[in-house]
Amino acid sequence: MSNRPELPPEIARRRTFAIISHPDAGKTTLTEKFLLYGGAIQMAGQVRAKGEARRTRSDFMQMEKDRGISVSASAMSFDFDTYRFNLVDTPGHSDFSEDTYRTLTAVDAAVMVIDGAKGVESQTQKLFEVCRLRDLPILTFCNKMDRESRDTFEIIDEIQENLAIDVSPASWPIGRGRDFVGCYDLLRDELQLMDRADRNTIAESIKIKGLDDPKLAELVPADLLETFLEEIEMARELLPPLDPKALLEGTMTPIWFGSAINSFGVQELMNGIATYGPEPQIQNAEPRKIAPEESKVAGFVFKVQANMDPKHRDRVAFLRMASGHFKRGMKLTHVRTKKPMAVSNPVLFLASDRELAEEAWAGDIIGIPNHGQLRIGDTLTEGEAIRVTGIPSFAPELLQTCRAGDPLKSKHLEKALMQFAEEGAAKVFKPTFGSGYIVGVVGALQFEVLASRIELEYGLPVRFEASQFTSARWVAGDQAAKDKFIAANKQHIATDNDGDTVYLTRLQWDIDRVERDYPDVSLTATKEMM
Ligand code: GDP
Repeated sequence: MSNRPELPPEIARRRTFAIISHPDAGKTTLTEKFLLYGGAIQMAGQVRAKGEARRTRSDFMQMEKDRGISVSASAMSFDFDTYRFNLVDTPGHSDFSEDTYRTLTAVDAAVMVIDGAKGVESQTQKLFEVCRLRDLPILTFCNKMDRESRDTFEIIDEIQENLAIDVSPASWPIGRGRDFVGCYDLLRDELQLMDRADRNTIAESIKIKGLDDPKLAELVPADLLETFLEEIEMARELLPPLDPKALLEGTMTPIWFGSAINSFGVQELMNGIATYGPEPQIQNAEPRKIAPEESKVAGFVFKVQANMDPKHRDRVAFLRMASGHFKRGMKLTHVRTKKPMAVSNPVLFLASDRELAEEAWAGDIIGIPNHGQLRIGDTLTEGEAIRVTGIPSFAPELLQTCRAGDPLKSKHLEKALMQFAEEGAAKVFKPTFGSGYIVGVVGALQFEVLASRIELEYGLPVRFEASQFTSARWVAGDQAAKDKFIAANKQHIATDNDGDTVYLTRLQWDIDRVERDYPDVSLTATKEMM
């Protein structure tokens, strides 16, 4: 972070982040309030509830039908103070974790929302681990403080213990549950009192000259003040002060307390993201890294959403700008195919609206409508053959065969499956032997969503059935060794949707055997998207 050249102001003011949380912790509500403070919406309640996990399949399909909305909500740009925030949505359901992983490759920081009564939950932990793999800076928001919550020290302890990260309180709650009156902002020496009556107004904060300020006693009931002052003394003794460098390195998280539904604590969190959150970061790429301040434009696709309008088979590729200043109409090079590509209709997602993006800077997310040329992991540049790395594809954990209800429609089925594969919604394997396709996903809900989407978008009823295989591994090694291996194991061999060779099996034992018998071949559970 240090020794970096100063970024051009337009880039330096960008903050690109995702919100991670266990379902129900308040991600949607917080997103809404971000937009409210960002001036992007007039009143909260306009963002559709999007917590997939709570949903039944039919809710999910309804959401799929309303894709225009759900898609525009998957990246949102808005201004806050002098900053430009780019908020990228992550699916909350663990069945879509691969999508989440890829989304996290496109952001510079994450906001972790936890429920003050529940602390660190399973999905929080999982998503946190993903952030840790990339050393992503994390800012924490402890939500629902208006309700009965756990002891503040206990919450902080739990984060430190379970997630192995230092926690520094940026604010401290005063009172709990029904007695919760507000927070003391430790970074700015301000008192914020919560207004329970009006949820959609922006709370005022009261400037205080340190904890001895007599104003505190006027504003906070005596018993609450006493406990609060004791706690603060203890907190200052036991907990580290905020170290901005440790935050940027991902070893310390500041925590704010608040209540998203009451719009309380949100502005302080946003100030925190603006002040302490990272600027657009250097992107790992081959053969060289890409720095945001480079004058030439580069960006990479981290998400593809197809059939936003089933009548036109268009899709939108979400591009994270890694460097430079993009202008609409620019001709970029599609590095994988080495073909030029005029980007004439890029879209920017502003709250619930889509807008033509006249320009974009490093850090921004733009959507590029296309007919399938753009795939996850693709890099666009102004000519240089650089390829962004670190966007993985995971071996699926569930495999099923997929057949068209009408056998004459199998060509259609192939087309539909390939499209979903390119969207990253599934892996599709064509076995060397036998007919049909084997579809691999990470979570079972994905099969249901796929079946419904194939029917909805292609008018093709399909059946998913148990496959004789349960695991898939990519085959790596030099060509001669691979050929020998493939020839001897034909019943287990398939090709994936990118044409790469895959070994299918139902036994870990088989995988071990291959490793023993074919030392020049390796079976891998991940591959880089390229
Ligand atoms: P998500 O699943 O993480 O997106 O969570 P939502 O934002 O949909 O919130 C889950 C539930 O918690 C909803 O019923 C919200 O109204 C409620 N909720 C969100 N924030 C708060 C809060 O600060 N206090 C209280 N009491 N409820 C909240």
